[in-house]
Amino acid sequence: MSQIQDEIKRITASLPCGVRLVAVSKYHPESHIEEAYAAGQRVFGESHVQELRRKYDNLPKDIEWHFIGHLQTNKVKYIAPYVAMIHAVDSMKLLLEIDKQGEKSGRVIPCLLQLHVAKEETKFGFTPDECCKLVADGEWKKLAHVRIYGLMCMASNTDDMAQVRSEFHLAYALFKELKTGAFANAPYFKECSWGMSHDYPIAIEEGSTLIRVGSKIFGERVY
Ligand SMILES: *Cc1c(COP(=O)(O)O)cnc(C)c1O
Repeated sequence: MSQIQDEIKRITASLPCGVRLVAVSKYHPESHIEEAYAAGQRVFGESHVQELRRKYDNLPKDIEWHFIGHLQTNKVKYIAPYVAMIHAVDSMKLLLEIDKQGEKSGRVIPCLLQLHVAKEETKFGFTPDECCKLVADGEWKKLAHVRIYGLMCMASNTDDMAQVRSEFHLAYALFKELKTGAFANAPYFKECSWGMSHDYPIAIEEGSTLIRVGSKIFGERVY
C-alpha cells in the first residue's frame, strides 16, 4: 500500500461516527487522487476552479468534489453543474449567484457559510455578528437552488493550540445557536467544516463534521 493510502486509512479509521474526511487534493496530480480513490476515498477538496474542472473531467464520476477555497462570483458557473458542496460562501452576493447558477443547472447546491474567527486580517468570511444578521434577515430562505448545510472556518495559523481551540469553539457555539434557532426545522443544517492537517483532532473535539486534510495525506504542495 502506498503512503497516501496508508494515511487515508489511518485517518478515516480514527474518525468518530458522523465525521467525514475531505481529502484536499489541490496542487496534487490526478495520480495521487487515483491512489486515494483506490483506498476508498470519494470526497475531495479543491480550491481553484480550473484545476477542479480538469480533475472533474478526467477522474471517476462518483467522486464528491468539494470547493473549499475563495470563490469569485464570475466563476460559479463553471462548477455549479457538478460541485457537491461549496464551503466558503462569504457574501450574500455569492450566495445569490450560486442560486442563479443552481437554477440553470437544475440543482440545489449545498453551501456552507464561512466564518471569520481567526486573528489574521487576510482571511475571508463573515464575523459571527455578520453571519447572524444574514441568517436573521431570512433572504436565503427564498433561494430555491442553494441550501445552507452549516458553517465553515479556518483557525489562525499558529502553534498556539489553545488559541486554535478557542476559535473552533466560537464557531461551534454559533453553529449550535443557529441550529436551535433559525435552522431549528432544517435537519440538513448539520455540517461543521473545520480542521486541517495540523489541527483536525482539536476541530473534531470542537464539533467538526467535515475535516479538510491535505498535506498530511498527500505531502507538501508544490505551488
Ligand atoms: C489547503 C486547504 C486545506 C488543507 O490544508 P492542509 O494543511 O494541507 O491540510 C484546508 N482548508 C482549506 C480552506 C484549504 O485551502
